[in-house]
Amino acid sequence: MPVYDMEEGMHFQCQRCTNCCRWPGEVVLSDEDIDQIAAFLGMSVYDFVARHTHLRANRSGLTLMEKDGGTVCEFLDGMDCRINPVKPAQCAGFPNQWNFKGWRKVCEAIPVPESKS
Ligand code: SF4
Ligand code: SF4
Repeated sequence: MPVYDMEEGMHFQCQRCTNCCRWPGEVVLSDEDIDQIAAFLGMSVYDFVARHTHLRANRSGLTLMEKDGGTVCEFLDGMDCRINPVKPAQCAGFPNQWNFKGWRKVCEAIPVPESKS
């Protein structure tokens, strides 16, 4: 995954603005994401996939469902993620492990010195 516009020795700390849960785009799910989220919700993998995911536009896997056919992730509840302890790796990795050109204009994460431990 590409990483743009980072600062040497700094880690971007999420400010929980939830913009990344609202903008258009897919939340790609790995098999591990699916297993963990289904277990967290107390659902079978079959039911979780049927109720909370749909096929990606390029048909190469599954993405989380959006609310009411819009762009907001179905698991956003106010300003909280209902599956925060097991949120998909794509969510947990943004913006430090991956991001996109211009991400700092739309993400409120702030740079803090990286922990050495
Ligand atoms: S799973 Fe949680 S963190 Fe990821 S987009 Fe949905 S609400 Fe946001
Ligand atoms: S857009 Fe950035 S600051 Fe806002 S919730 Fe997502 S990662 Fe955190």
